[in-house]
Amino acid sequence: MEELCLGLRDVGVSNAQLPDGEDVREAISRVKALSAELARRGVDVSSRIARLSTETNWDMDLLLRETLGFPRSVPYLASTPDPKCGNCGMPISRKAVLALCPRCVAQGLGQLAAGRSESHLDTCPICGRQEKGFLVYAYGLEWMNYCGDCLEDERAREAAG
Ligand SMILES: [Zn+2]
Ligand SMILES: [Zn+2]
Repeated sequence: MEELCLGLRDVGVSNAQLPDGEDVREAISRVKALSAELARRGVDVSSRIARLSTETNWDMDLLLRETLGFPRSVPYLASTPDPKCGNCGMPISRKAVLALCPRCVAQGLGQLAAGRSESHLDTCPICGRQEKGFLVYAYGLEWMNYCGDCLEDERAREAAG
């Protein structure tokens, strides 16, 4: 239980790296695994999570739900600065899974369709596929090599609102 709380704190403090940072993704998978383990043992986490919210001043119940729903939901804290497109710096939706605005998603798809990947990386950070994709320096953190399928998924999510 305390490990789950620590994991959630990690998601919280590495929040600025969302949705792509390696540390925050690691924290997210740890929280998912711990939560599944506690559920299997029949442990009710709600009162401890409520207390953690007072301890940290974050809405931990919401953070936990969004963490468990990742990547369908992205566990942004209310206090997180607004996420930006890693390619052009435009503000992007807090629901975005890739660090890209719609225009840059389209640009990436166009680039890949034309067979012009500029990427020096081979792995997509979202799905793990080995493929040269659209290269983005996300949030000044690290290079992201988004594959064509993940770009398509993002475009479909944008279209669905
Ligand atoms: Zn952009
Ligand atoms: Zn991918």
